[in-house]
Amino acid sequence: MRLVHCFRCGCEVPGFDPAEESELRALWRIACTRYRECEGDLNMWEIGKTARLSTHFADVRARYFAIAGQDMQTRCMEFFHSLEALGVLCPSCGKALRTKRAKICFSCGWKGIVQAEHPSTGQ
Ligand SMILES: [Zn+2]
Ligand SMILES: [Zn+2]
Repeated sequence: MRLVHCFRCGCEVPGFDPAEESELRALWRIACTRYRECEGDLNMWEIGKTARLSTHFADVRARYFAIAGQDMQTRCMEFFHSLEALGVLCPSCGKALRTKRAKICFSCGWKGIVQAEHPSTGQ
């Protein structure tokens, strides 16, 4: 876990590495299944509230807190921000770029081409 800037949230959020993310997503799926079995359909407009309050989501909330050190929440509907997607930083201001191939930084206006963090060996 590393704090990264999410442009949709407009703030720093916990970013998870692939192992953490898949663990959390697995718990999330279990929570959704349990919720549907006990309470019926999940209202996706209220998923944020449901995930914070429903006892069916207690496991995923606890694991999230253990990894991230803060309560599970989001402003952008993405509960589990992935470092893969958000981990590429602007060479100028250090904020996360929108995509791996972003050529423009929306925070500072930097333009350019980001070198891949892990260049392919190209066989
Ligand atoms: Zn976000
Ligand atoms: Zn920038």
